[in-house]
Amino acid sequence: MPTAPKRAGLLRVLLRQPHRYRSLRGALALASLAIVAAPPLLGLGRLDLWRGDHRFLGEPVTFAKALFGGVLFGVASYLITFVVNAFGGRLFCGFGCPLAQANRLVEQVGAIPAGRPGRGAPIAGSWLFALLFAAAVLHWWIDPRLWLDGSASARAVAAGVLLLGTALIQAHAHRWHWAFCRGWCPVGLYYSVVMPSTAFGIRFSPATCIDCNACDHVCPVDLRPRELTAEVTRDEGFAIASTSGVHHCLSCGDCVEACELVLTKRGVAPIALTLAAHPFGRAAAARQLRRASDSASCRSSGR
Ligand code: SF4
Ligand code: SF4
Repeated sequence: MPTAPKRAGLLRVLLRQPHRYRSLRGALALASLAIVAAPPLLGLGRLDLWRGDHRFLGEPVTFAKALFGGVLFGVASYLITFVVNAFGGRLFCGFGCPLAQANRLVEQVGAIPAGRPGRGAPIAGSWLFALLFAAAVLHWWIDPRLWLDGSASARAVAAGVLLLGTALIQAHAHRWHWAFCRGWCPVGLYYSVVMPSTAFGIRFSPATCIDCNACDHVCPVDLRPRELTAEVTRDEGFAIASTSGVHHCLSCGDCVEACELVLTKRGVAPIALTLAAHPFGRAAAARQLRRASDSASCRSSGR
């Protein structure tokens, strides 16, 4: 599923200059990969399909116990992102998820027309990230010492699996793209349901909005950032229809980036959209969001 044409057009402009959210997101997505890769690389936990050197808390164990350790790691990671969700909504989806970052890196390639100079670095970056992602997952299943001590055939099989994983991540980013985040990711949607209202999230100040709609066009999951309390009626995957946009917002800040670009160019301040914490907590944040959404829907019905 390719990037929506209007989002692709905006990205061509936005990606010409660095942005603090992009730098932060790149660092956090790499940190997520490092967290996934650390236990097997440090020998703390893994299943070893190569020579059966399964580990749990650094000790040699049976396959079943190592599998239990892997499940425990998954549950612990889930709980950490769950706590983040309590404060920042789907902040992990917007800033820490490696799969979403793979989408973004592929979009960076697409933002430079074929044949133009400058495509080499983003292409290499997107494949390298996919390779690191695949390697982080693969080493839960094989001892990394295979690359040094393994037979030629064992290394060839592992390399084949690694390349297949890399290609699948790239294929996902090219074909399925944001549809997964929008309707299918069970983790993100579960977080949305259990903690839809947080003090941190998108804030809208109608006073300086010039109704350019750039925020609507750039949203990767097809929300209207100015009207996040409006009901989302989509029928896609696991997405829960009849919940508000707040439930589906990734807290990715793309709409804020677009708004900053448009308003800064025109010398308008303050920026109408921000990604921020409300100083008076969740209830105040929800009230402000509702007022802003009502105001935006009045403006759009009057257009
Ligand atoms: S509304 Fe803004 S922050 Fe939320 S998903 Fe859309 S672009 Fe990202
Ligand atoms: S990008 Fe900013 S100025 Fe443009 S419509 Fe959205 S909120 Fe208003």
